[in-house]
Amino acid sequence: MSIPSLKLSDGNEIPQVGLGLWRVGKEDEFQTSFAAATEAGYLHFDTAQIYGNEEALGDALNSTGLAREAVWITTKISVERIALGLTARSFVGSLKKLQTDYVDLLLLHFPVTLGRKKAWLELENIKAEGGAKSIGVSNYTIKHLEEMKLYATEMPVVNQVELHVFLQQPELLEYCREHGIVVEAYSPLAHGKKMDDPTIIAIAQKHHKSYAQIMLRWCVDKGFVVLPKSVTPERVQQNVDIFDFQLDEEDMKGLAALDQNLRTCWDPTHVP
Ligand code: NAP
Repeated sequence: MSIPSLKLSDGNEIPQVGLGLWRVGKEDEFQTSFAAATEAGYLHFDTAQIYGNEEALGDALNSTGLAREAVWITTKISVERIALGLTARSFVGSLKKLQTDYVDLLLLHFPVTLGRKKAWLELENIKAEGGAKSIGVSNYTIKHLEEMKLYATEMPVVNQVELHVFLQQPELLEYCREHGIVVEAYSPLAHGKKMDDPTIIAIAQKHHKSYAQIMLRWCVDKGFVVLPKSVTPERVQQNVDIFDFQLDEEDMKGLAALDQNLRTCWDPTHVP
């Protein structure tokens, strides 16, 4: 079954499931994960300057023979580069490593207090010059997004944030919906840190699906782009095999009750 796409407010269409590439550093792990993903039909790859695998992704994509337009590449400007005012300059390096002349989505990785405004204006320029088809942010809270209204010519089309059944962020989701910002769920499996919840186990048994597939399907049903990471081929395959069943009202009610504000990654809520 092919992976559906979501329309962004700039008109571009993003595949709803992408392969997460954080901590997919070692060469053999990268190749295993990438090969399993292309075999399973993934066409969306989520990397970042800080992940250290932009070059590996560029090499791997070249070797597939897939047309550039068939693939969605996201990368992110690192905290350090944002803080140092090196967004545009470092992006030239990213394109070189990725061996392409544009990315589909370019994000600011984090709302770095001193630097985020200048970095966003540079992203707008990069987009205007054709280096990125879409631009967005990551780890932005409502406060950071509201502040952008004061300086942005265009608002982000995507906000990539930690999101899973144990961290549901309802206010942020409502804000993004109202502002036409598509939300990307990172660490959709809570970084693998909570794989024993009895409600999810029961729903998984009912649908003859795995625990992870229930967590991912919840993200899809909520309308997020979802970015699972795995270096295990069967799991890479399993993580897109989520479009042949649906969660019912009772399932969604049970999953809604699991929210416990559990953060497994960094917390931007106190960043001024
Ligand atoms: P995740 O996808 O929530 O979870 C990954 C963990 O779950 C790994 O330990 C993986 O193990 C395991 N796993 C994967 N599929 C599974 C399955 N079907 N059954 C059981 N276990 C499974 O974690 P994440 O890497 O933190 O997040 C995913 C992606 O989001 C990242 O790779 C990155 O692209 C993005 N991200 C972005 C930010 C940001 O600040 N913008 C921050 C964090 C993450 P194996 O690999 O051993 O199979």
